[in-house]
Amino acid sequence: MNDKHVYFFGKDNAEGHKDMKDLLGGKGANLAEMAGIGLPVPPGFTVSTDVCNLFVESGNNIPSGVENEIHFNMKKLENLTGQNFGSEENPLLVSVRSGAKFSMPGMMDTVLNLGLNDKTIKELAAKGSGKRFALDCYRRLIQMFSDVVLEISKKKFEDILKTIKAGNNIVNDFDLSEKNLEELISEYKALVKSESGHGFPQDVQEQLLLAISAVFKSWNNPRAITYRRLNLIPDDLGTAVNVQQMVFGNFGERSATGVGFTRNPASGIKELYGEFLINAQGEDVVAGVRTPMPLNVLEEKMPEAYKELAEITTELEKHYRDIQDFEFTIQEETLFMLQTRSGKRTGQAAVKIAVDLVEEGLTSKEEALMLVEPEALNQLLHPVFDVEDKAKLDVLARGLAASPGAAAGQVVFTADEAVAWSKDGKKVILVREETSPDDIHGMSASQGILTATGGITSHAAVVGRQMGTPCVVGCSEIRLNEEKKMFTAGNVEIKEGEWISIDGTSGDVHGGQIATQPSEIIQVIEGKIKPQESMIYQDFNKLLQWADQIKRLKVRSNTDTPEDANMALAFGAEGVGLARTEHMFFERERLPFIKEMILAETEEERRSALSHLLPFQKEDFYGLFKAMEGYPVTIRTLDPPLHEFLPRKEDLMVELAVLKSSHSDQKEKIQELEKLLERVKTLSEFNPMLGHRGCRLGVSYPEIIEMQATAIFEAVCELAKEGVKVYPEIMIPLVGIKQELTNQKKIILCVAEKVMNKHKVKIDYLIGTMIEIPRAAITADEIAEEADFFSFGTNDLTQTVYGLSRDDGAGFLAHYLAHGIWKDNPFETVDIEGVGELMKMAVQKGRATKPHLKVGICGVHGGDPRSIYFCHEIGLDYVSCSAYQVPIARLAAAQITLREKKASEQPD
Ligand code: PEP
Ligand code: MG
Repeated sequence: MNDKHVYFFGKDNAEGHKDMKDLLGGKGANLAEMAGIGLPVPPGFTVSTDVCNLFVESGNNIPSGVENEIHFNMKKLENLTGQNFGSEENPLLVSVRSGAKFSMPGMMDTVLNLGLNDKTIKELAAKGSGKRFALDCYRRLIQMFSDVVLEISKKKFEDILKTIKAGNNIVNDFDLSEKNLEELISEYKALVKSESGHGFPQDVQEQLLLAISAVFKSWNNPRAITYRRLNLIPDDLGTAVNVQQMVFGNFGERSATGVGFTRNPASGIKELYGEFLINAQGEDVVAGVRTPMPLNVLEEKMPEAYKELAEITTELEKHYRDIQDFEFTIQEETLFMLQTRSGKRTGQAAVKIAVDLVEEGLTSKEEALMLVEPEALNQLLHPVFDVEDKAKLDVLARGLAASPGAAAGQVVFTADEAVAWSKDGKKVILVREETSPDDIHGMSASQGILTATGGITSHAAVVGRQMGTPCVVGCSEIRLNEEKKMFTAGNVEIKEGEWISIDGTSGDVHGGQIATQPSEIIQVIEGKIKPQESMIYQDFNKLLQWADQIKRLKVRSNTDTPEDANMALAFGAEGVGLARTEHMFFERERLPFIKEMILAETEEERRSALSHLLPFQKEDFYGLFKAMEGYPVTIRTLDPPLHEFLPRKEDLMVELAVLKSSHSDQKEKIQELEKLLERVKTLSEFNPMLGHRGCRLGVSYPEIIEMQATAIFEAVCELAKEGVKVYPEIMIPLVGIKQELTNQKKIILCVAEKVMNKHKVKIDYLIGTMIEIPRAAITADEIAEEADFFSFGTNDLTQTVYGLSRDDGAGFLAHYLAHGIWKDNPFETVDIEGVGELMKMAVQKGRATKPHLKVGICGVHGGDPRSIYFCHEIGLDYVSCSAYQVPIARLAAAQITLREKKASEQPD
């Protein structure tokens, strides 16, 4: 641990700088930086974040060595300012503010005007703005100090203030007279005495140490802890404390305080954007007591100070090479900078600012790429709610945010109704307990999908993402009653046809209709707006092209249809990483043949059913390969358990009972249903996710794989003859032992040869496997003997490594996150220590056998930036995600390449 704990900053002279955020917190590091480059910053010092940890470890005590450093720096501050702390002559007043490495707005505490007491106030009153100003500072100090340090309820002070204002017919605080303020201070002091048993502390050194301690303590207040959980900020970072000479925005009509941004944080437009208040202190701007004025009014009121502010903030932007969010105070028309930091911005603004900064010559393309959070791109692709409209409606329930975007529609409870209603021009939200593949038609007709159960890799979630349809899953707060066509959320009942609005980015479900705004970029991609007419599209495209020039990972898309493939290509996909063939089986005209295949009692009967399916599958693959001309397309053989293609056992039993009791002559139908029910019973499994699925189906029914392989090779041979470039990759799911792959490969090789001979064409193709069972990862060296490539199925791998059903985890996910057992949902972000370790092992072992083995990922994690960083680090060749996540993945892949480059350039 560092011996030095306190860092001084004064004009042109600072012991810290902007890259010391770990130690000085964001505010402290930037105050030091601004002071160091000669900007007008009131001098002061920062007590480091190390001390916060020491403070907590020692049971909330400031170590004595640190106390000495604080006193030493206080002396230095006195010398520099020519003022004395606690002196009756020319007293020094200071502010004490928190400041962690990452901004945690409003979560921790601040005390202003420290150093005032019954004596120093007299001196303050004797000069400058006079007695009223001094009294105003003192009452603010007592109120803030009592709240923050003495933990006396703020409300009690507010009540006294209200009573005095009401008794004197005063509306605004600044209209309080000297007499009113004197009365207020005396009542405040009485309150402090009665609540704490002591008078308001008059010893300024005691005030200082108590205030510093209170700020350190506030690191662990409940709201700060919750904020850290939500924003993934580690608990051990600690906050720094900044002690700084006070400057006064409440010094009279020629003084002011304000906040602003160097560019508009919502749109990204270059303009000084912010607000200020005349004759006020910082907290008045955020407290919302008075309505602040926009910064352009400052130009009229104090032109000199405004000009200086514009110059300084422009310089700050140049210096930091990013949009700045700043705080300032003007004391008697002299400007002081109190804070600067990177400004939080919307996704749209982030893209525009990054591109503009490059075009203005302020930053390099590499730096610009680091200025945009990959996930912020979601905001540019999906519809969003109107903010004001949203604020009017309460949240009814909350589920898992499974597919981003906002949607409003009338509630329907079945896929067929979704289709019928949307044909009538209605907007619908499909609400289901969970969806299954035969809901697809209804899902694609809906504006949004809401399910009561299921996790982030449930059917609804996967399909929602693939379609780009907003989706909330695992919303356990809602209770469905499909018979009555309604659901309840708490006391609220929502019936079929009523409006709800769902936010697939936050997981919120609202009753009623919230207006949505469509994404301009999607409108360009769909040809509704010309690219040259959309600035945001052009900026978006530019940024992603820069990303492509840098990234090492390829980005593919999980795509099953030519339409999705075209969308994926428009988003910049470089291939298909996973085509789930089962999704193609669910179209109405195909289902009878699927059923026939499953009900078949002999291989011959099964082959006959499969022969009907073959032309459909061939057509699917033909369309997909054609759309993806020139790019690799990975087709996975059938994966889900067969019973998923059949009706539910309970539904069949009800149907049968009804038929039998109807007394009509339905013998044939009854027999057919009885046979179906028997088959459903035979196929039913206790644990279908761990049962007869994946390659196990192909081992039992090789003719299914034969049909799929025939469809693939027929399609690619035909395309090759038409001159279309195809790169087929056939992938076997759920392999756990090399022999399974050998078995399946044999079937495919045989079909490939036969079909290519028939067409007299030769096509290069790969046969690989998913790595989604721990045993496959552990024996990856053996499996690689048979595999041309690996693709991590991290949905199943997470499920099997954790021994936790991917659909049932949603029920207790919230508890695990709240207890801090999980920092993240492992079905969303790769669990690096567990699942990740197996992935690393599989890559190493696989490449020990085949050094150039191609390795990718096609689980949900392939679209998650943090998982993408990890995939880059362990040497994967590509990630595959839904079409809408492709831009996110391109940017994330570029960022990790840049980070790696930066780290390698730094000396050890
Ligand atoms: C996986 O398991 O990660 C995967 C991509 O396959 P599926 O989600 O279809 O099981
Ligand atoms: Mg899988």
